[in-house]
Amino acid sequence: MHQAKDRFLLKRLVLAGCGVALTAAAALSISLLSGGASAASEKICLTGSLHFDYRSAESGPEKPWQTRPVRNANVELWGREGALGSARKLNTQALFTDVANGGFKACYTPERSRAMDMMWVRVSAESSRLWKVTNGKGATFTWNSPIQTAVSASRSLGTRRPRSGDMRAWHAFDTGNELWWKRGNPKSNCWSARETDDNECTELTMQWVSSAPSGTVYDPQHNTVHLTGDAPDSEHTVLHESAHFLQHRLFGGWFPQVTRCIRHWVDKASSETCAWTEAFADSAAAYVLGDYRYVGPNGIPISFAHGPTYDDGDTVQGNVGGSLLDLWRNVDGGTWNRTIALLSTHNISTFREYFTLRPTAHLVTDDKARQILRNHTINY
Ligand SMILES: [Zn+2]
Repeated sequence: MHQAKDRFLLKRLVLAGCGVALTAAAALSISLLSGGASAASEKICLTGSLHFDYRSAESGPEKPWQTRPVRNANVELWGREGALGSARKLNTQALFTDVANGGFKACYTPERSRAMDMMWVRVSAESSRLWKVTNGKGATFTWNSPIQTAVSASRSLGTRRPRSGDMRAWHAFDTGNELWWKRGNPKSNCWSARETDDNECTELTMQWVSSAPSGTVYDPQHNTVHLTGDAPDSEHTVLHESAHFLQHRLFGGWFPQVTRCIRHWVDKASSETCAWTEAFADSAAAYVLGDYRYVGPNGIPISFAHGPTYDDGDTVQGNVGGSLLDLWRNVDGGTWNRTIALLSTHNISTFREYFTLRPTAHLVTDDKARQILRNHTINY
């Protein structure tokens, strides 16, 4: 978007999976109770919460620091019962950080003794297998709690924070919730109703590389949003790029042949295909966040209201994005869900095609709808 490059990346990426290796310090060994079977084992839980600090581009160019819980992230409990075995993942059911406060609670009942040699909690910047944030090497960002040793009763770990250098990854991850919650798919947990098996959803990968100038690209070949530098400071930017993925999934893996789109601006003419796909991403971000603008990573907003700097017509993404938002909010009952359903059943290359197809999704194209478009200099 804007000053950032935003084009489809075709180069092949090598994603090497690697986990965080923890070196376990020698721990106190726990003396086993003789005839351990007679000792009633009790459940041991580690509780706490994970919050992250972030710079908020949505709050203005000074980007003040704010704090928020990490919501909906995968939680694992790791550890070992005896001093000699190797640590392993202990939980068998999926656990997530709490949506309200980033809280976690992970429990395990020792099998042979009354205590665990060591235990710790791992939170990943991934939610189920629906979206995740990886580093430049393709490893998912994780936070590991301090290792607890000789754990014979439940412990509270308090409110914790990820490494300061990882905060932007957690901000991007948490922002992913906002789009997933509003994806408008009544058929499955997947991003698109074209995918109906909850175990086979296409996952969105956001790859964030800190040591690069601010930039954003969606790579459809790998379902990957690339974010560099301070790009995650802007939730509009994270959501805009993620919405390219969403539209790609709504179209079932198809995407329009987009022209004249290597550089494009909200208020300037590009092409019908560029304006349509970029406007969908712009308006998705604004719809999800409940506003009427795009905010770049520098904290500078631009409104979708047609203004003096704007070019005219449906090759301008701001004109199309403003029209989409106005239709959803003022004609379509305050929701984009029927538009989402329309995109889940038709492959659409331009806004004109979309508008023409609206009646098939029981959406109007009457005088009121056309007047909304005229307010954005689009005359159909
Ligand atoms: Zn874009």
